[in-house]
Amino acid sequence: MIKPEEHTDSYYAASRNDLTTYPALNEETESEICIVGGGFTGVDCALTMAERGHSVTLLEQHRISWGASGRNGGQLIGGIGGRDYLKAKLGDDAVWKLDYRGNDIIKERVRKYDIECDLKSGFIEVAFKPRQMEGLRQDYAAHESRGLGNHLRMVEQDEVQSMLGTNAYIGGMTNDLNGHLHPLNLCAGEARAATSLGAAIYEQSEVINIEHGEKVRVSTPGGSVTADKVLLAGNAYQHLEQQNLSGLVFPAGSFIIATEPLSEDEIKTINPYDLAVCDLNNVLDYYRFSPDNRLLFGGRCNYSGRVPKSIKANMLPRMLKVFPQLEGKNIDYEWGGNIGIVIKRIPLMGRLDDNIFYSIGYSGHGIAPTHVAAEIIANAFEGDMEVLQVYEQVKHFRIPLGQWFGNQIIAMGMLYFRTLDHL
Ligand SMILES: Cc1cc2nc3c(=O)[nH]c(=O)nc-3n(C[C@H](O)[C@H](O)[C@H](O)COP(=O)(O)OP(=O)(O)OC[C@H]3O[C@@H](n4cnc5c(N)ncnc54)[C@H](O)[C@@H]3O)c2cc1C
Repeated sequence: MIKPEEHTDSYYAASRNDLTTYPALNEETESEICIVGGGFTGVDCALTMAERGHSVTLLEQHRISWGASGRNGGQLIGGIGGRDYLKAKLGDDAVWKLDYRGNDIIKERVRKYDIECDLKSGFIEVAFKPRQMEGLRQDYAAHESRGLGNHLRMVEQDEVQSMLGTNAYIGGMTNDLNGHLHPLNLCAGEARAATSLGAAIYEQSEVINIEHGEKVRVSTPGGSVTADKVLLAGNAYQHLEQQNLSGLVFPAGSFIIATEPLSEDEIKTINPYDLAVCDLNNVLDYYRFSPDNRLLFGGRCNYSGRVPKSIKANMLPRMLKVFPQLEGKNIDYEWGGNIGIVIKRIPLMGRLDDNIFYSIGYSGHGIAPTHVAAEIIANAFEGDMEVLQVYEQVKHFRIPLGQWFGNQIIAMGMLYFRTLDHL
């Protein structure tokens, strides 16, 4: 059994606007749908099903949004893993619809439920190398061909330097369909919306056993939920159903530091348009400003499964390489969380039985994709399996020798990609 924890000590936990806690499950109860895991995948699926009038119970082992959903870089970026694969199976039109569906769901929910999560539009992908610029140009042309060109803009070297206050990049591409937000406040707001529609949420309620059958019995140390259908949404923290799901998703650490608030003058020279910024390296950096002018700078995936002794010592040199002018600034927060890596980088979605579903393994890009996945699962719960079946057919690599060995293989793979970043 896992000891229940509070939120990790992060900028997000310190600035959250919803202190709601939910009780632990202490009874035998019934529900049409039972969801295991209270991150974006679980909470958003609970909200969708509650909106559609179903009875839903969600069980979270720590707090709502305790995992990656409450710790991430807050970069709202369209797209869903396995684009080329999906395109071959579903066609171009369907994939373009899925691409920005997550962004649309989030924008709509923020508006509909009045969720205060600092949602802003504005994003730039930045390039270090001509081949990365070429990739951006192709992406721009693809968007233009779909009538979305007016949301994007290619930015050449001089302009990107003045836009971001650094000479680290040779260019970039802005996209105002993407943006940034406070993920912990978004997830908490979505959970609040779900309960307002009748969903039951329990925290500090680790699921320790699942009894398969026509009805599924999901047990926690204090009680159980008997449900018609179950969703496993534990992502990198998922540890159930090992006989079926082990060796497929590998936890990797991603880390963020938050500076002290910068002055208005500094903000005017560094990222004055308040964009979410993401570079195009395989081992990438991502950053943005918080509303109180802190630079939230993240990156440095750790595939060994170990948390560095000092996150700041690891991240600060990366930040100063991009912004040497921030030398001497205090780092007020440092934290990390686990992303769930899948070797093919296509989320692992499917069913164990007809009534036990899973959606895990977003490989580090999850705010928008989790919302798309939650809708795909909700549709499947209601009998529309079209998209889920396509995901189920993906032949994922399973590394049978346990998580430690799998993480070493992924670490070696990433060393290769890191080397490519330097070529
Ligand atoms: C540091 C960091 C930065 C990131 N930055 C970005 C970004 O800028 N943009 C982006 O799009 N994506 C980003 N990501 C990825 C994104 O956050 C994730 O893909 C997404 O949040 C996954 O959501 P989830 O609900 O599937 O999983 P999580 O949010 O990890 O939630 C899973 C939950 O399941 C619970 N759980 C697991 N097992 C059980 C059990 N047996 N019983 C009960 N509960 C259980 C866990 O406690 C956890 O709360 C980042 C991730 C990290 C870690």
